[in-house]
Amino acid sequence: MEDKQRKLFKFVVVGGGIAGVTCVEQLASQFPSAELALITAGPHIKAVTNYKQVSRTLEEFGVEEQPFTVLEEKYPNLTFIQSAVKALHVKLHCVETIDGKVYGYEKLCICSGARPKLLTEDNPYVLGIRDTDSAQEFQRRLSKAKKIVVIGNGGIALELVHEVEGCEVVWVIKDKAIGNTFFDPGAAQFLIPSLEADKPLKSVPCKRPRFTTEEKAGGTSHTFTAERNHRQTTTPTEHGSALGPDWHDGIVLQGAEEGRHRVMVEYQCEVENILTSSDLLSSPKTLNLEIDESWPLYVALNNGKTYGCDFIVSATGVVPNTDPFLNGNNFALADDGGIKVDDQMRTSEADVYAAGDVCTACWKPSPLWHQMRLWSQARQMGWYAGRCMASHVLSETIELDFCFELFSHITKFFNYKVVLLGKFNAQGLGLDHELLVRCTKGQEYVKVVLSGGRMVGAVLIGETDLEETFENLILNQMDLTPYGEDLLNPDIDIEDYFD
Ligand code: FAD
Repeated sequence: MEDKQRKLFKFVVVGGGIAGVTCVEQLASQFPSAELALITAGPHIKAVTNYKQVSRTLEEFGVEEQPFTVLEEKYPNLTFIQSAVKALHVKLHCVETIDGKVYGYEKLCICSGARPKLLTEDNPYVLGIRDTDSAQEFQRRLSKAKKIVVIGNGGIALELVHEVEGCEVVWVIKDKAIGNTFFDPGAAQFLIPSLEADKPLKSVPCKRPRFTTEEKAGGTSHTFTAERNHRQTTTPTEHGSALGPDWHDGIVLQGAEEGRHRVMVEYQCEVENILTSSDLLSSPKTLNLEIDESWPLYVALNNGKTYGCDFIVSATGVVPNTDPFLNGNNFALADDGGIKVDDQMRTSEADVYAAGDVCTACWKPSPLWHQMRLWSQARQMGWYAGRCMASHVLSETIELDFCFELFSHITKFFNYKVVLLGKFNAQGLGLDHELLVRCTKGQEYVKVVLSGGRMVGAVLIGETDLEETFENLILNQMDLTPYGEDLLNPDIDIEDYFD
């Protein structure tokens, strides 16, 4: 590769998702006269909007899909390159894109996200949901479906089973309770009635406008819309940015049938086999089954049950998008497939950083923080990686940011506000913890995790207004033994109490 073929940038960031965009914005504002490039596979970027610091570590923000021109207008020193990276040459300090171009860098940040971990990669009846294109494909297939099987127990599966209407959903989970990535069985019990209840008519407009690209006779036009159910069309891309909390707003998740949604949960089981109707007929194991041949496929579970369905949604986690960067390089990878980063967001290769879903945090974490591949952490990591890259070119040192002191996340499940703090599920505590729970059916669920008399985590579902007080109690590690169960006594104004 000859030097004259490549354009040299001070900073190159790969990926137009939350992590990449936050990182490049941080760098572009800190180095207004340096040349920067953002290389991303799709035509749009994800921008953080209405950022609000709710408390010391909790943050709320919206995310808009925007055309790259918005960023270029804001930062004249930024070049946007729409292409997928196909190779990285760390010794030469350059990346190669699929259209044959080569871009040199002084420092590089990989923010290429992750893709769904599918049960099987080559079955057209097995879908994953990641980006706008895959959500639209899901919507299209759902509109003709009478029964689908959803596999997985994380955030995407939780939202999906709640939102789908006019189609029977068989929800297959490995665990004893729903949503165990986020909750304990008590919280699951609290949420279950919402799965069975009829949902109110959706007439509220989407709070987070989305950018849409519409093909018109004279070309492509870009519009912002705050309407629900607005038709969304995007140029299909191989790797789009991950959707986020409101991914189902603006798309109709309606199956082929009228009426309310029906969800049947199959607990503590896994998929043993996926069969077509002809496979099933020729399989001796099925001789005793009544086969309804109208289903294109059948899912055999290891609890002995077999369900016919129109298609499967595989929502069993994600795999970091590392492929194009590994060949010929020596990146240390974590067990989950992520690129290992240290407390300065550096990978094991010189001048290469990583942030967001593609990376795995390998520093010794604070006892109250752990990594989860979430929107909030993608933003925090992207922002912090940008600050680290900037400090390192100036030969300055930087301390791990405070946001990595305490795990904190605000989201919504089944239309309830959900706040998760610290070791909210007693992660890693073994038997060395006790739980205090307060629950008002249909209204709120409050769980506190105590270890050695100190608060180390909490789950708050509903409008509890306790997040800031609990965050403080976790951060200051006050001995709460004297308060006992009064900590959750609804007749005591706890905010006043600890003021
Ligand atoms: P991404 O957003 O995936 O962005 C990666 C970018 O890299 C993309 O722009 C892609 O085009 C680009 N790219 C990939 N490969 C290449 C390449 N070779 N060359 C160039 N560019 C490349 N999180 C929450 O906190 N709450 C939720 O409720 C929630 N719900 C979710 C629902 C769904 C359906 C999904 C899919 C995810 C959800 N998440 C949620 C997770 C959250 O969206 C992700 O953690 C976050 O968006 C990750 O951001 P990222 O920037 O690391 O990666």
